[in-house]
Amino acid sequence: MLHRVSIKTRSRVEFQNITRAVQEVVDSSRVENGVCYVFVPHTTAAVTLNEQADPSVVEDIAEKLDALVPQHGGYHHSEGNSPAHIKASLFGSSVMVPVDGGRLVLGTWQGIFFCEFDGPRSRSVLVKILPDSR
Ligand code: ZN
Repeated sequence: MLHRVSIKTRSRVEFQNITRAVQEVVDSSRVENGVCYVFVPHTTAAVTLNEQADPSVVEDIAEKLDALVPQHGGYHHSEGNSPAHIKASLFGSSVMVPVDGGRLVLGTWQGIFFCEFDGPRSRSVLVKILPDSR
């Protein structure tokens, strides 16, 4: 079954921690062991795993990403949001996290982040839980 998690972003660039929302999908699936697939169906947003213990880590990522892909830089795409498309491709549109004993298996410092690059907007994240075969 495919679950849709709705997200509202508040800034042009924003890393929103969605770990709890994804764990809630795992809980509702009642799958004990398997894999959790998280997919972002957008061309100017992405999903990534990184440190959630210190919020300044994603702040640093967002700042340095802006330096790497400047907001104004002679882009071809007429919509004017090429930097967001480029950033989305750098991060990718999906992550997979193992599920063990009904819990997402993440490293001590890891969290799942929805990456907004062209906000603020209403967004969706699709989550699919794939149980182990018996
Ligand atoms: Zn565009």
